[in-house]
Amino acid sequence: MNRLSDIRTIKDILSRHGFTFSKALGQNFLVNPSVCPRMAEASGAGNGVGVLEIGPGIGVLTNELCQLADKVVAVELDKRLLPVLEETLGEYDNVKVVNADVLKLDLDRLIAEEFAGLEAVVCANLPYYITSPVIMKLLEDRLPVKAITVMVQKEAAQRICAPVGSRESGAVTVSVNYYAKPELLFHVSAGSFMPAPKVDSAVIRLNVLEQPPVQTDEALFFRVVKAAFSQRRKVIANSLSSGLGLGKAEVAALLERAGVSAQSRAERLTLEDFASIANQL
Ligand code: SAM
Repeated sequence: MNRLSDIRTIKDILSRHGFTFSKALGQNFLVNPSVCPRMAEASGAGNGVGVLEIGPGIGVLTNELCQLADKVVAVELDKRLLPVLEETLGEYDNVKVVNADVLKLDLDRLIAEEFAGLEAVVCANLPYYITSPVIMKLLEDRLPVKAITVMVQKEAAQRICAPVGSRESGAVTVSVNYYAKPELLFHVSAGSFMPAPKVDSAVIRLNVLEQPPVQTDEALFFRVVKAAFSQRRKVIANSLSSGLGLGKAEVAALLERAGVSAQSRAERLTLEDFASIANQL
């Protein structure tokens, strides 16, 4: 078993480095030894694969990834963790730690520079305060990655992985499904982290699509999705009218041309419905 997964080892490392957790940076570190191997395995890390990790913390997941993949690049914002990672990853020569804010990095360039000749995947226990922005950045930047395997809050996982057109779906469900096929892999209890967060978590995998499943003007498609879900309990005619700033008659004609019932609600529409509305706009 990876010695780093042992809670006594983790506590010892943290106390030797005088490390204190930052709530603002979403620092809840994994201390359940069974989770990281499962996540690393599910991410597709292996021969010929380069893994981009976001927020390695003290390197528990990084350790597993280094054992499976050809190369691992881990982006960590908190510079206090750099000496810790130097110690915990010292035995690997296939890892690089980048001290940066993932939201400000040119990830396309990083992947091209670091993973030439390798297939790239993303694997991360995400800081929860930026779950959606990170996931959307990874998808919208059209990075050449095969899959994105991430730990997120259970509620976020359920929302992202809900079927499009179901009650549980939301704008994020539709947006993610435009780029990828999401899968909920397994649940992880709050007690698997130190400090324990208030909510449970889940690991999801987004299998990135080569082509979007619908043909549409992307900017308009996402404007329609945002407007439709801005008032999700209202019928689509009303939410689009206020969300897009169009008159009632204009929206009625638009929906008729798109073949979508004015009385439907956003959560009941399919990707094709949203594309059809965008294409008629
Ligand atoms: N991977 C570790 C684990 O599973 O134990 C730590 C996960 S912890 C939930 C999130 C990590 O992301 C922390 O190490 C935190 O410092 C880092 N982080 C927070 N915001 C970040 C950002 N904007 N860019 C890169 N890393 C960030």
